[in-house]
Amino acid sequence: MSKDSTQLAKDVVGRCGILARFSEDSDGIRRTFLSAPMHDCHREIASWMKALGMRVSVDVVGNLRGVYSSTAGNAAEAPRILMGSHLDTVPNAGAFDGILGVVLAISLIESLGDETLPFAIEVVGFAEEEGVRFGVPFIGSRALVGRVDNELLERTDRRGVSVRAAIKDFGLDPGEMQKAALGEDVLGYIEFHIEQGPVLENVGHPLAAVESIVGQTRMEFTFYGRANHAGTTPMNLRHDALAAAAEWIVAVETLAQRTAGLVATVGFVEAKPGAVNVIAGSVRVTLDVRHAADGKRTETVNDLIRQAELLAARRGLSVKWRKLLEQQAVSMDAFLNRQIEVAMQKAGCEPYRMASGAGHDAMILAEKIPAAMIFLRSPGGISHDPSESVELNDVACALACGRHLMLQLASSQEFLGRTCRA
Ligand SMILES: [Zn+2]
Repeated sequence: MSKDSTQLAKDVVGRCGILARFSEDSDGIRRTFLSAPMHDCHREIASWMKALGMRVSVDVVGNLRGVYSSTAGNAAEAPRILMGSHLDTVPNAGAFDGILGVVLAISLIESLGDETLPFAIEVVGFAEEEGVRFGVPFIGSRALVGRVDNELLERTDRRGVSVRAAIKDFGLDPGEMQKAALGEDVLGYIEFHIEQGPVLENVGHPLAAVESIVGQTRMEFTFYGRANHAGTTPMNLRHDALAAAAEWIVAVETLAQRTAGLVATVGFVEAKPGAVNVIAGSVRVTLDVRHAADGKRTETVNDLIRQAELLAARRGLSVKWRKLLEQQAVSMDAFLNRQIEVAMQKAGCEPYRMASGAGHDAMILAEKIPAAMIFLRSPGGISHDPSESVELNDVACALACGRHLMLQLASSQEFLGRTCRA
C-alpha cells in the first residue's frame, strides 16, 4: 500500500527534524562543510535512499549523491535529472534551509511508485553552499561544474585547515575532482527550497517558480572628514564624516524604495575615532545592492556613487569607494519554468513567479545545465534561525507539483532531446 500525499509530506518534515539532530553544537544546529556530523547526516539520508533502491555515493568534495532509475540496471547509462539542495547550515540554523530540498526529492521519488521514466533521477545533497567554514560559498555545486581549482583547495579555515586537508580528513581523495563533474547525460537541475523571505506568505501562495536569481554588487565606502572636539567646534565649521554617511544611508534607502524590484542595504557602519565627545573623522560603510536586471543594478550603483561624491563635496569631505563583489543575475530555464507552472496548476495551486534575492546552487549549475527552482512559502518569512519552518500543506503541494513535473518531462520530446553544455 503506497503512502498518500499527506503521509509523504509528514515524512519530509519529520526527516528534516531527524537531520537537525546532527550538529556541531549541542544547543543549536550548525553543520558546516565536511564536519563530523555531516557523516551522520549522510548515513541517515543514504539509508532512506537505499530503501528506494537508489545507488548512493559520496563525491570528492563530500556531496551525497543517490541515483534512482525506474528501469533497473541501467542507472549509469540513462540520461538523468538532478534534484537536490544543500546539507550544510549556518550557525544557529533552522531545520529546513537546504535540507528540505534533498529530503523532498527523495519523497518525490517515493511518490512516483511504479511509474517508468525515460531518465534517472540523481538526488544531490550538496556538501557546502553557505560558505561558513572557508568563506567561499557553493563549493559543492562548484565541483559539479569544474570550478574547484587549486586556489580554492589551498584556502584555509579559522584553524588553518585547508580545503584539501579537510577533504582528506573526511576520508575522501582530492585527486578525484574530475569524477564529480557533470557528464553529458544530464538533462537539467531542479531544486526545491524554502523562500527565506515574506513574499509568498504576503501574496498567499504556497509555491513559486523562480524566474531568476538576482545579481548583486557589494561595496565599501569610506567618508573622510575631520575629527575634532565635540564641545568647541561650532556646527558651521565641522566636517562630520558620520553625518555625511547618515545622509547617504537615507539616500540609499530612498532610491531603493523608488525603484521596483531593487533592494539596497547598508549593513555595517564603523565610525572613527568612535567616542562620544569627538566628531567622527572617518566612517566606513558597506553597501549591498540586488536586482534581477543587471542594467538597473549598475545604474543604481552609479547613482549612489554620484550621490556620495556630491554630498561629500557639499560638506567639505572626501569619499573613497571600492567594489567587493559583482555578480550577474542568473535566469532560470524558461522551458522548465513553463513546465513547473503547468505542474503547479495540476497540483491545485495557482502558478506564481518571483525572483530569488539570495544565491543558490541552482545559479552555479545553470552555467552548464538548464536549472530551475521552486520556492515553498516561509512562515513569517523567517530563515537562518531556529524558528524557520514550513507548512505541511505546502510540502504536500510541492510533492504533487514535483510528481506532475517528472511525468510531464518524461513525455516531453523537447526536454529529452536536450543535452548538457558541459
Ligand atoms: Zn539554502
